[in-house]
Amino acid sequence: MTRSYEELLSRARSGLDKDARKSEGIRLELPIPDVIWVGNKTIFRNYGEFPKRLRRDSARVLMYLAKELATAASVDGERAIFIGRKDRDSFTQLLQRYMKDGVLCPVCGSPDTHLEKEKRMWFMVCEACGARSVAKVA
Ligand SMILES: [Zn+2]
Repeated sequence: MTRSYEELLSRARSGLDKDARKSEGIRLELPIPDVIWVGNKTIFRNYGEFPKRLRRDSARVLMYLAKELATAASVDGERAIFIGRKDRDSFTQLLQRYMKDGVLCPVCGSPDTHLEKEKRMWFMVCEACGARSVAKVA
């Protein structure tokens, strides 16, 4: 992350219109998945960095990946192990999608969001602009 929380807050307060802020593209860079195959398993060696970067619960992110890849997965320290041979691009795409649907604020594009549960629905609450949006993945 390149911008401080204070800077984001002051930007939000300064009353720039939403589109202007969105077009600046506050970006969250994800690491490149480090994936190797051992037998019929896929070892995602730097998995632990992703939930940290996304500020999401490791087990939930893993559950999302396992579901989308239609396989079983488990965490072993910083690594995640998937049954079957899965390629790196699949992980990259799914994690990008997870970030878009469940992390980035749809109003201002900030990655500084957290989840809140209300009436069995998950909402993304943006710490930069205060918007509450339904999280498509949680
Ligand atoms: Zn926002």
